[in-house]
Amino acid sequence: MTDPTLKDQHVLVTGAGTGIGAAIAIACARAGARVSLAGRRREPLAEVQALLRGAPAQILADFDVTDEGKVKAGIAAAREALGPLDVLVNNAGEAPSAPFVKTDLATWNKALAVNVTGTFLVTRDVVPDMIARRAGRIVNIASTAGLAGYAYVSAYVAAKHAVIGLTRSLALEFARAGITVNAVCPGYTETPLLDRAVDNITAKTKRSPEEARAALAATNPQGRLVTPDEVAETVLWLASPAARSITGQAIVIAGGEVMAG
Ligand code: NAP
Repeated sequence: MTDPTLKDQHVLVTGAGTGIGAAIAIACARAGARVSLAGRRREPLAEVQALLRGAPAQILADFDVTDEGKVKAGIAAAREALGPLDVLVNNAGEAPSAPFVKTDLATWNKALAVNVTGTFLVTRDVVPDMIARRAGRIVNIASTAGLAGYAYVSAYVAAKHAVIGLTRSLALEFARAGITVNAVCPGYTETPLLDRAVDNITAKTKRSPEEARAALAATNPQGRLVTPDEVAETVLWLASPAARSITGQAIVIAGGEVMAG
C-alpha cells in the first residue's frame, strides 16, 4: 500500500468489474480499503480482484442493482465478510441511445432502473450502517448528462439528472449524520461503455470507429477522452477525511465541457 487514505474503511463499488468501477475499486484498495466488488457477472469481478494484490476484497456477483432482493442479499454478504460499510460508490450504469420518438418504454424504464432506482436501492440498504456510526461517504457516478442535455440519449440524461437530484436531497438529509453525498460527472471516458457508443455510431452513420472516437473526444474542450483513473482519483478524494465539508456537489470531470453552478 502506498497511500493509507482509506485505511480500515470498507468500500462497496457497484459495477466494479469494468471501466470506471474497476479503476475506483483498484484505487480504493491501494489506499488501504477493504473492497466489496459488486456486479452481475462474476468473471470481470474476479479479474479485478486479481489486480488488488491481496488486499481484502469480496466478490458480490449476481448483484443486480435493479433487484431489491439481490441488493439486500449482496449487502448482507458484504457486511458479513468485511464489516459495516463506510463508503458506497454507486457506479453501475448503462447509457442506451435512440432518437426520442424511437425510445420505447423498455429502454426508458431500463435507463431509469439501472441508473436511478439502482442508486436508490443500494443506498437505502447501506446508509443505516453509516447512520449508526455517524460517518460515511456516498459517491454517485452521474455524468455530464446529469447537468446538461444531449440529443439521442434522453432516457439516460433524464436518469442522470435524477441521480444528481437524489444526491442533493440526501446530502441535506444526512448533513448532521456525518455522511457526505456527492456526484461525480465524467465526460466521455475510455471504457467498454464508450466502446459500445462508438459501435452504435459506426452502425448508424458512415463514420469509421476512429472518426466516431475523435468526434466524442472533440466534445471535450481539451480534445481528449477522460481516463477511468482520473475519475477514480476524484472519488478517492471525496471519500477521504479531507473532503468532509464537500457534500451535495456534482463535480464535473470533462476538460471544461460543462461548467456547473
Ligand atoms: P461499463 O464498463 O459498461 O461499466 C458499467 C458496469 O455496470 C459494468 O461493470 C456492469 O457489469 C455494471 N452494471 C450494468 N448494469 C448493472 C446492473 N443492473 N446491476 C449491477 N451492475 C450493473 O461503463 P463505465 O463507462 O465504466 O460506466 C460506469 C459509470 O460511469 C456508469 O454509471 C456510466 O453511466 C458512467 N459514465 C460513463 C461515461 C463514459 O463515457 N464511459 C461518462 C459519464 C458517466 P455487469 O454487466 O457485470 O453487471
